[in-house]
Amino acid sequence: MVLRKSMGTLTGIALACVLLLSGCNASQAVTSPQASSTSSPDTSQSSQTHSQPYTAASSPATASDVANLSVHFIDVGQGDSILIITPDGKSAVIDGGEASSGALQYLQSKGIKRLDLVVATHPHSDHIGGLVQILNSIPVAKVVTNGQPTTTLTYEHFLDGVTAAKAKYVEVKRGDTIPLGNLTLDVLSPVNATGDDLNHNSVVLRLSYFQVTFLFMGDADAAAEADILSAGMAVKADILKVGHHGSRYSSGPAFLAQVKPKVAIYSAGLSNDYGHPHAETLAALAAVGAQVYGTDTNGTVVVTTNGSSYQMSPLKGQPRGPPAAATSSTLPLLPTVPPATTTATPATPSLTATTPPSSTPAALSLEITSVTSPVRPGANATLTAKTAPGASCSIKVYYKSGPSTAQGLTTKTADSSGIVSWAWKVGTNTTPGSWRIVVTASKDGQTITKETYFTVS
Ligand SMILES: [Zn+2]
Ligand SMILES: [Zn+2]
Repeated sequence: MVLRKSMGTLTGIALACVLLLSGCNASQAVTSPQASSTSSPDTSQSSQTHSQPYTAASSPATASDVANLSVHFIDVGQGDSILIITPDGKSAVIDGGEASSGALQYLQSKGIKRLDLVVATHPHSDHIGGLVQILNSIPVAKVVTNGQPTTTLTYEHFLDGVTAAKAKYVEVKRGDTIPLGNLTLDVLSPVNATGDDLNHNSVVLRLSYFQVTFLFMGDADAAAEADILSAGMAVKADILKVGHHGSRYSSGPAFLAQVKPKVAIYSAGLSNDYGHPHAETLAALAAVGAQVYGTDTNGTVVVTTNGSSYQMSPLKGQPRGPPAAATSSTLPLLPTVPPATTTATPATPSLTATTPPSSTPAALSLEITSVTSPVRPGANATLTAKTAPGASCSIKVYYKSGPSTAQGLTTKTADSSGIVSWAWKVGTNTTPGSWRIVVTASKDGQTITKETYFTVS
């Protein structure tokens, strides 16, 4: 087992060298001035929750409740800890902050009694320290790391925790995917977790829930960002977990220009020793138009999304950056005018956690060839698409009240000509309008999504 190898390596190193140093300060320049925000000051006097309710919330319940994904950027002081709860009830934690920094208590306050996944982005104590307590307190199904060991007692305790939890242990690298319920975390970095810079080798993850995408940077530095870009990885994200606590050594302008975050969230302790977040980073985030939340000034920040729009719920205060225009922090839920063309999600490598990429297969194609429109409430609708023969295809139909639960909207396999079609009944109480349909095809580790609209009238 790779775990045994890592633990053996650790034991040897630990015997020779008992170091207790940790933290993420290896690249902190002491000559730099203290950060002072160049963006709008935050008005943290307000303790009112800043949130924008879904437009679907007040609609009559003609379909199932909207299934939400929630991502919690937990205030653990100087460190990172993120809780993800998927629409199908799976839960994951990315990092756990320092030991006893409150991550476990936060999970317990949310009723989390088991975790399907724990990711340690890299073995600095402000990321894995709190995972030790979690692993010793809550059943954990799987632990994911980049495989890079270090020489600290905190790391040794972390490995002991993995063993005690009897969790499945997996080491990942770029191109791997980590399943989480019906969702998938794409691993963008590292390629090869070696060398002295633990931050550089952080596991960088991208998570999409239909139209809403998150990017979790760990403590990845600008060199890692440049490498991700040069590899052609898809990085565009609505919500960015800012790399390395807002350090100036991450969040390079070229990278942010590709991510185009609407919301950026950094995790840092108030008045921390490193001056995080650095002024340069806040300025760079402001330059790309991101609203910036920080756990130092906003406390725990929760993002809730139904896959179309998202809602920001900081514990306190307001974001830095551009004022929240009505549309800037809420994606259009259901446009009334169909777009002229459908858009495709770029196919990203999504190989299994144990199979490195050896060659790039031909890009998977997907075209929606027909859809019934307009259709009356209570009548049947059909949609036909063409993709690769044998591709696994799923469909989601979004009405005002949320995704349709109609029979027939099941996952299907494209026939030998690549044709797949669905037929379903439009509910008699369906609100008239133009409604979004999302079709996803997957084959040989590739996934492509296309969407269209149909009219109920
Ligand atoms: Zn860190
Ligand atoms: Zn670090």
